[in-house]
Amino acid sequence: MCKLVLWDIDGTLLQTSGVSKAAMHMAVRQVMGVIDPPAERTFYSGKTDWQIICDMLPDRSIDAIAEQLPSFSHAYVSALQQRIPEMIERSQIFPGVVDMLQRLYGAVVQAPLTGNVAPVARIKLSALQLAEYLDLDAGAYGNDHYNRWSLVPIAVERAGRRYQRAFTGSDVVIIGDTPNDIRTGKANGARTVAVATGPYSLNDLRPYEPDVLLPDLSACDAALEIILGD
Ligand SMILES: [Mg+2]
Repeated sequence: MCKLVLWDIDGTLLQTSGVSKAAMHMAVRQVMGVIDPPAERTFYSGKTDWQIICDMLPDRSIDAIAEQLPSFSHAYVSALQQRIPEMIERSQIFPGVVDMLQRLYGAVVQAPLTGNVAPVARIKLSALQLAEYLDLDAGAYGNDHYNRWSLVPIAVERAGRRYQRAFTGSDVVIIGDTPNDIRTGKANGARTVAVATGPYSLNDLRPYEPDVLLPDLSACDAALEIILGD
């Protein structure tokens, strides 16, 4: 398996209809104090949880937030675990996602590259029965770095260690739903697949010039070609 496919979670594989956001807000309130988070759908998109909290609390430093991340993560997991039945009921897996995960399974290494802190990513993917297609230990998460761009080398290093292979340049494919996913891929020399299943439309994403741009993954042949080709 010489390709590494790094999947964004929210807006790309699935959406939880605000269930995880409610749990996250509860955790931020509990650990960091009162917050008044912005309502725009794009506020959270493409950012790490670490960065989202920093943006919510601009008077605190990145390092100060980092010190509170383990407590936040713990509180977030507790709040989300209480909402698992609600999350399963209200969540949506986007069209074509399961088919594409299945078609790539065994042919490439698939792992998450997400702004979610690692235990939250695990809960979401397990609850919606997507974890079985992904190597969660080869991914990178919102508690690994403040910047999404810096998650790629972390995932590449983890996957490289686990599979005894150097994944470089176009061996790596980033699949995501935001301009920041595309920028993250390009900044790391990876190929990029963008889907308009999150808050950004095809027209919003097109100027960022992903290698493949799709309304969703139900017609994923172009994406499979770029992943599995040469
Ligand atoms: Mg996303």
